[in-house]
Amino acid sequence: MLSARRLILKIGSALIADSETGEIRSHWLEELIEDVVRFFERRQQVIIVTSGAVAVGSSHFNQLDRPLRIEEKQTAAAIGQVRLMLAYEQSLKRHGFSLGQVLLTGEDIDNQHRRLNARSTLQQLLKVRAVPVINENDTTATAEICFGDNDRLAARVAEMVNADALILLSNVDGLFTGDPYDKPLARLVKEVRCITPEIEAMAAHSPARHSAGGMITKLMAARIAMDAGCAMVIAKGNKPYPLAAIENGGPSTCFIPLANGRVSRAPVPTAYRR
Ligand code: GLU
Repeated sequence: MLSARRLILKIGSALIADSETGEIRSHWLEELIEDVVRFFERRQQVIIVTSGAVAVGSSHFNQLDRPLRIEEKQTAAAIGQVRLMLAYEQSLKRHGFSLGQVLLTGEDIDNQHRRLNARSTLQQLLKVRAVPVINENDTTATAEICFGDNDRLAARVAEMVNADALILLSNVDGLFTGDPYDKPLARLVKEVRCITPEIEAMAAHSPARHSAGGMITKLMAARIAMDAGCAMVIAKGNKPYPLAAIENGGPSTCFIPLANGRVSRAPVPTAYRR
């Protein structure tokens, strides 16, 4: 991470929004942005991919005691996205940075013309000291808003802008050999160099299956990132200064691509294409 020139940082809904009230966890966000600013001071570029729009906007529907329907989620996302961006903008502004909101879908990245436009916008934003903050465009997403999509979207953004590192801040320390809640002997896998069937089996039993995206989508993201020569880190985000914690040797799982970068041009897993 210390040597990465360009990093993609993915923030899950549960980190940015209080799960009961949908309120933005501003104190946590302040500390995260301090971490991000430290990277920029070291001449490392950071692009944020954030979830949380649905979680933040859902308070508009709190009279309902059933799960939100797709159109209600899209409505919640449209309302929540504005609040989310305002919170990021306020924090960034304190450090002299602007924010550039970018809404994307997997289909935008599939389309060469749109992908080139998106890439050029992201590059231009970074040039003018505006931190790109990306979310999936939930209004035009063609299928149900699927939690975990942003893990894969973040990996595809990493591939699109040739990032060196992708950090997924999650609610678990990383990939475990089993579910540590059930099996006290389960241990954290610190490094993965190849996604083998054994690693896949670990993901299926991971405690993160209880989280929004789960470990399965994180492995899909790891595959996309590693194929693009980009390292990926999974770490728990719910702590003060979560990026500093990783750099100081805190628990995490690091997926390391082969040294020669782009190892294959494997197509994006069909699961991403809805
Ligand atoms: N785009 C959704 C939101 O902002 C989240 C999707 C995801 O968590 O992967 O709420």
